[in-house]
Amino acid sequence: MRLLFLNDFLDLVFPRTCPQCGRALLDFEHCLCTMCQGSLPLANFHLRPYDNELTSKVMGLTQVNRVMSFLRFSKKGKSQKLLHQLKYRNRPEIGVEMGRLYGIALIHGGYRDEWDVIVPVPLHPVKQRRRGYNQSEKFADGLSTAIQIKKSNLLERRKFTDTQTKKSRLQRLDNVEEVFGLRSQEEISGLRILLVDDVITTGATLCACANVLLANGAKNVDLATIAAGG
Ligand SMILES: [Zn+2]
Repeated sequence: MRLLFLNDFLDLVFPRTCPQCGRALLDFEHCLCTMCQGSLPLANFHLRPYDNELTSKVMGLTQVNRVMSFLRFSKKGKSQKLLHQLKYRNRPEIGVEMGRLYGIALIHGGYRDEWDVIVPVPLHPVKQRRRGYNQSEKFADGLSTAIQIKKSNLLERRKFTDTQTKKSRLQRLDNVEEVFGLRSQEEISGLRILLVDDVITTGATLCACANVLLANGAKNVDLATIAAGG
């Protein structure tokens, strides 16, 4: 009883709000409000994971298996606002919730036994310290809980890459090469890996990470992101 009272009190002083519309959340709503959750722009790429606009994007960059995304990304759209809050407004729970929701969709799509481990794309340690968390790891945490597959931080980021938006596709590819590596002492041969990131734009980052995993003996690598676009 005392705990319930304390929660009510905290809600009154610091109301939990929906990161999408800003409305105060009801008790049973744990991240998004019901309305916003019901109107997420679903991409459903997991329903045709070998042949969609994302698979054509990564073709030639890596030998990945399946490529999928939970949401469609559009500038000024709903997923853009969510991702912005996740990355820059200290709302790590959005990543966990997106992972949980996508995990449920993946189970319904028959993906319960497809992977041995979920691996997030790492942030540079300096950037992670500044932000306080890695948004991709939060997505991995939600997926891990929903699908019941362990998460493992197998990769590390060795170079600090600056924002890449003004560079050409080729420059970007050069830039991410040798940025990522396997953490020492990790044995990954034969593993079926789900590699996850917050967003896929050119696919260069995800492909660089996938190539590290494949070069070290992973059996196959599938890619999943919160949102896809650009
Ligand atoms: Zn809302």
